[in-house]
Amino acid sequence: MKKIQIIVFFLSSVCSSFGQTPEPPRLVVGIVVDQMRMEYLYRFESKFGEGGFKRLMGEGFTLANAHYNYVPTYTGPGHASIYTGATPAIHGIIGNEYYDKITRKTVNCVEDSLYKPVGSLTANGKISPSRLLSTTVTDELKISTQFRAKVVSMSIKDRGAVLPGGHHPDGAFWYDGKSGQFMTSTYYMMQVPSWVQAFNDRKMPDQFLLQVWKPLLPIEQYTESGPDESPYERRLVGKPSSAFPYILPELRARNGNYDLLSLTPFANDLLTEFALAAVRGEQMGADATPDFLCISYSTPDLIGHAAGPQSVEVEDTYLRLDRNVQQLLSALDKAVGVGKYTVFLTADHGVAEVPQYLKDKSMPGGLLSTEKLRADLVDFLKPYFPGRQLIANVSNEQVFFEQEGFSNDLKTAGVDLLIASQLTGNFLMTQEGVYNFYTESTLRQGSFSEGGIRGMVIRGFHPKRSGDIAYVLQPGWFSGSWPQGTTHQSPWTYDTHIPILFFGAGIRKGSSAGYAAITDIAPTLALLLKTKFPSGMTGQPVIEALGEK
Ligand SMILES: [Zn+2]
Repeated sequence: MKKIQIIVFFLSSVCSSFGQTPEPPRLVVGIVVDQMRMEYLYRFESKFGEGGFKRLMGEGFTLANAHYNYVPTYTGPGHASIYTGATPAIHGIIGNEYYDKITRKTVNCVEDSLYKPVGSLTANGKISPSRLLSTTVTDELKISTQFRAKVVSMSIKDRGAVLPGGHHPDGAFWYDGKSGQFMTSTYYMMQVPSWVQAFNDRKMPDQFLLQVWKPLLPIEQYTESGPDESPYERRLVGKPSSAFPYILPELRARNGNYDLLSLTPFANDLLTEFALAAVRGEQMGADATPDFLCISYSTPDLIGHAAGPQSVEVEDTYLRLDRNVQQLLSALDKAVGVGKYTVFLTADHGVAEVPQYLKDKSMPGGLLSTEKLRADLVDFLKPYFPGRQLIANVSNEQVFFEQEGFSNDLKTAGVDLLIASQLTGNFLMTQEGVYNFYTESTLRQGSFSEGGIRGMVIRGFHPKRSGDIAYVLQPGWFSGSWPQGTTHQSPWTYDTHIPILFFGAGIRKGSSAGYAAITDIAPTLALLLKTKFPSGMTGQPVIEALGEK
């Protein structure tokens, strides 16, 4: 009842701020930048042009204190949460890969053996959104327009395209690193549309891979980043230093051929061109029925993992991405019309500092090897449960018990589980870097709106899919064992604080430093598009962003 009243209030205040029923935008463009911290918009701001990120912020509405409101902060869960307005506890995307309790195998969040690749014969295209358990804002747009609205989704990564597109898009396309082509699966279509074929026939990846990645500006101007030669960066195979330039023709053969493109900003150029080809090819935004284009730039994540957030590579990637955004906006101005389309820009998660970098600066941080943790846990439990194998899997900072490892006697099986859970928790708390642990039963009983770290674990914990025990590492720590590079997954702010920018039709100019959750994007778009809310939605619309300029 309370929630209904709140929504009625929101709807009435939005309607009054709109005045008379405003026209929905002709096109919504969702831009997800994989691994983009909010901080980057400030750190690199002085080097951005006027028509890219600065235009989005200057003319649109900026949420400066927007966060992921759950753990784990990964790409699959992030994209699902942006578009469903729900969290993994509801939409079910609990990791990029996760241990599936039913098949007892690790599965990819978009894998589906019912389907086959389309558009590339070389790649694994057994892909669909079947594991996504809520509708998306793109699904709701389809339903509300009797499927007349066009929805097209694209990314370098398969999951970056599949989850935003929802369950019934006109197309979801991702990059095949084996063939250098954009592809899809038989879930969506039996052959790629002619505009995709024509785009693939241009063989742009071959052109890009003849190039050399050099910094856009003279290297001494990258004062917002650390030294170009750095001990914290993972190097490409066959590259003697971590510094520029990246001579792609020399690196291609030993670094995955077409996959190498994804590790350079040229993949952002490629995806931008592909997006504009989609606008033309599908005539998106051409009539009064709103269309939805979902773009997910994966490359900032791939470069960020290898080089870390203080690298010249990351800064250069964002300076170039700023130009991609500018190119996109000016093309949409022409194709759809200024003020006739709406853009939002966000990220699927942030990123941690490189742990060794933190240590070298006397700051807290470190690495905890999941493989070693698992082996030590198995040894620890052995004397308590002689002859029994209790641990099925440790992944995504969750422990899954082998259900058959417990007694078959119904009276003792539950007791065994409680004892094993408590012992596992005790063990975890002896490990350097572990902050806390949470058993399945406490998470199931917890409140969805609970604050603090436990609340974030609850919102990321799916009652059927997640493990028996979740644990969280201390700030600055992550699961891994690599001396260079970095990652993300935690509930801490470096992983949760991301930009949410709204721009264009129906969006007010302004900004807010009030707390906003990633789950607030989808309900905001649903109000703008006048659709019903996604089926599992838990967020709230950002009403201060909506209205006349
Ligand atoms: Zn990543």
